[in-house]
Amino acid sequence: MKTTFHLPPLIDAEASLRDRLEEAARVRGKSATSLLDDLDAFVERSMRNLALVDRKPPLDGYARAFEATLAQSVNASGKSARVLLRSFFFPYWQIFHLRLYPRYAPMTLPEKCRTAYLPESDVGALAAANKDDPLKHFRPDRRPPPAKFENRVWYDGTGSGLHFDEEPAGFFPVDYGTMMDAVARTACDVPDAVEMLEHLSPHWARANVLLIDREKRSARIDKCSFHRFAARVNTRPRAEHISGMVCFDPDYKAYQRSLREAYLESVEGAWDGYEGAAFDANDLKDRVLDEGLRKLEKYPTYDGLLNLLTSHGKPGHLCKHGDPVQPGEPVPREYTLARMFWLIDQKECHRWQWDTEKNLPTCQAPRETYPCEMFAT
Ligand SMILES: [Zn+2]
Repeated sequence: MKTTFHLPPLIDAEASLRDRLEEAARVRGKSATSLLDDLDAFVERSMRNLALVDRKPPLDGYARAFEATLAQSVNASGKSARVLLRSFFFPYWQIFHLRLYPRYAPMTLPEKCRTAYLPESDVGALAAANKDDPLKHFRPDRRPPPAKFENRVWYDGTGSGLHFDEEPAGFFPVDYGTMMDAVARTACDVPDAVEMLEHLSPHWARANVLLIDREKRSARIDKCSFHRFAARVNTRPRAEHISGMVCFDPDYKAYQRSLREAYLESVEGAWDGYEGAAFDANDLKDRVLDEGLRKLEKYPTYDGLLNLLTSHGKPGHLCKHGDPVQPGEPVPREYTLARMFWLIDQKECHRWQWDTEKNLPTCQAPRETYPCEMFAT
């Protein structure tokens, strides 16, 4: 089958680049001109790397489509490729590359989100999640969360990913949300859902997934790469969790690290730089969550889980207020913008959100309570 890529034109985002440049210059204490010089060097290096990519199908088609689109955009805008690519590549840690799912937006790899599950507690079975993102464009959601799920399997996901991935055989990307909804709707239970997702494994990535069913089975799926799949399926009740950007399975973790090494090498980055520090911070937070859940399993309570997810002890705090992982880290930084608790047996959902009007962090905002049925009856 011949793969044809139709890429959108590369737009001239010079104005928004200038906007972000000022903020970056302020945070880094460097002049905008010197940041632009660095960026140009980065663009040139990335373009050189692009030329060296081993172009096997379907990515050779994508590479050609990208180059054709760039040429068209240059003609249409009258701007040089460098000017167009400057805004495309900014900020520095966002990198366009060809060894990944062919989508056009540059990706960021900040540490994000976590979801936990306790099959037993003083309020019955309990799932909980911290949703982390930059604060800048956040507005609290005034709509109630879904009151009823018509599925036998419930899921929640966190971002996961790589800058460089290997290309799996038979690669055909599917939309993650559509796939997860379909799987949750049709699977009979957690093991069934895991089997479906493993079958689809070459076609999806960039999300770790936590699955729960009504019989208290659960599973965690590591999925930073299209190429690999790892799942821990708990057929008996046990605490489980996932964290953004972190693989739990030891072999998968080693694989993830090797691909991160390749990325850092290509951008002349280092483990003690901003990105390396962010990767290590992710792992630490996941350990804090894992160890906290193991302790909680002896006396599992709602308050215990809430305390764990709102912990501020550094390093390894799970409630985020935009603190940099390293001094001088560029914006945007991560905030815990929403926290969800699903009281599965009590059919209730609790939500806290960062109050942008009063500037109240999520951990100080009032609790919202809603009815919620997690499973089809
Ligand atoms: Zn907090």
